[in-house]
Amino acid sequence: MVKDTDTLEHIRHTLAHLLAAAVKELYPSAKPTIGPAIDNGFYYDFDFSGGEQPSEESLKELQKKMKKLINGWTEFTHEEVSADTARAMFAGNQFKTELIDELEKAGSVITLYTCGGFTDLCRGGHAENPKADIDTDAFKLDKVAGAYWRGDEKNPMLTRIYGLAYASKEELDAALLQREEAKKRDHRKIAREQDLLVFSDLVGSGMPMYTPKGNVIRNAIVNYSRSLNDKLGFGEVHTPNINKGELFKISGHYDAYKEDMLSVRSQYVTDEMFLKPMNCPQHTQIYASGQRSYRDLPIRYADFANLYRDERPGELSGLTRLRAFAQDDGHIFCREDQIEQEVSSVLGAIQEALSTYKINSWMRLSLGDAQNPEKYLGDPEVWRRAETIMRELLNKKGIEHKEAIGEAAFYGPKIDIMAVDAIGRQWQISTVQLDFVQPARFQLEYIAQDGSKRTPVMIHRALIGSPDRFLGILIEHYAGAFPLWLSPVQVRILPVSEKHAEYATAVTEELKAAGIRAELDADDSLGKRIRSVKIQKVPIYLVVGDQEVDAKTVTSENRAGEKEVLSVPDLIAKLSALISARS
Ligand SMILES: [Zn+2]
Ligand SMILES: [Zn+2]
Repeated sequence: MVKDTDTLEHIRHTLAHLLAAAVKELYPSAKPTIGPAIDNGFYYDFDFSGGEQPSEESLKELQKKMKKLINGWTEFTHEEVSADTARAMFAGNQFKTELIDELEKAGSVITLYTCGGFTDLCRGGHAENPKADIDTDAFKLDKVAGAYWRGDEKNPMLTRIYGLAYASKEELDAALLQREEAKKRDHRKIAREQDLLVFSDLVGSGMPMYTPKGNVIRNAIVNYSRSLNDKLGFGEVHTPNINKGELFKISGHYDAYKEDMLSVRSQYVTDEMFLKPMNCPQHTQIYASGQRSYRDLPIRYADFANLYRDERPGELSGLTRLRAFAQDDGHIFCREDQIEQEVSSVLGAIQEALSTYKINSWMRLSLGDAQNPEKYLGDPEVWRRAETIMRELLNKKGIEHKEAIGEAAFYGPKIDIMAVDAIGRQWQISTVQLDFVQPARFQLEYIAQDGSKRTPVMIHRALIGSPDRFLGILIEHYAGAFPLWLSPVQVRILPVSEKHAEYATAVTEELKAAGIRAELDADDSLGKRIRSVKIQKVPIYLVVGDQEVDAKTVTSENRAGEKEVLSVPDLIAKLSALISARS
């Protein structure tokens, strides 16, 4: 059966209700709190402090109970109730009553939804007939985890039960398989095996430190973005990590983003200061440092400065979410008539980069939400114009895209580039954002052809996003088998025995002199050294024995096991060509 995402979300949400009903049957003293649908299924948070706590083993039993209960779930009914009625209904459950109090304070309608005799506080959005609409082989209770009430460490710790749910059993099986594969590719595990980066409790969580090997890859990513920036006509700038709060008050980040910013104190001045979460406000100040004419535009600044965001410790994991990271960031200041050309060439560079990394992608046009105008700054008319420009551009370029309401930045709509990795997972990486707000707030100007003063448009863009996060994505995408140009060690040279060491050393030096990252490994048995090549996924290794020494050749072997006998100059020419083609 084909189901659209809306229906699938309803199914997942319904299963959260069903889980709560099953929990109440098996753990009568449990207090249900909240239980939303999520990307791969649903969860529900419970307070089990009044009785027995379920373990991972209890999930089977709970799942069985859900499958039994669903037979009586054929229709949802709902009723609007007063806050008092709702509070009476959930008496003794301080979590639900807190929610009810808030709804009452906000003047919101309070609704109760009932199915199969189980009632929950809810806003709606369910499968119409759960028994008929839900394939009971397409969901699976997944795991038990701790979660603070409303995600706040100051609140009581609850128990979260996760479930996976899909439209069909096939999709559930595929998701489970993908997860197994993802475990094998876990970038934290591979980064350890290949000695690429380090986290230290003393330094702090979410702040990666790269080893020389890891930094080779990170630099390769950054330098590639740099070369794309050159082609696009960007000038690279260098900016400080700390800024006065005043700057972010003008940009609007202070109001929209302050919770995510880390503050810094000076012993000499009283200014409120922050580690910067983004570069844009600073770039406006470089722009504002001189008088600009329409002929000077576009002006393009690129920046690889480190950025800092105050993420919740519980949400930090490997390189996926960090407190300290960089972006291959850039800002374009241009005239309105230049937007199309600029966005178009940036999209071209992003497509080129992703094709080099052999990553599939699709694009998302992220729009504002007319239902929540308070989330956005600026004139709605200008917003509509910006959205139209981007939509028309995507259509004109024939780029397949989806539109997403409510995903825009607070200052303007954007095109988000979603990477699809080797095992089908999606990552939002690059972005191109139009901004009609910040230039006006910073009173940026240029002199137009008719001599009048005009406000430039600002375009925020990243090519691959954060090199740090992207490295994590690449490790998993390649399962640690980096292509030659990215590999920290490109060639390893293995002399068969002591008497071949001199020639092997000479070959290593020749490769290094040609700019190839070559490494001699002469210790241990040949078998062990070959195994180490395989574990560390070195792309090419050379075994050097009598034959090679006599003929002044090398026998190279790649990851596919393909062998080739070559002279050293031929090997260098071949590898250099592959590396410069980023292959
Ligand atoms: Zn509901
Ligand atoms: Zn920006």
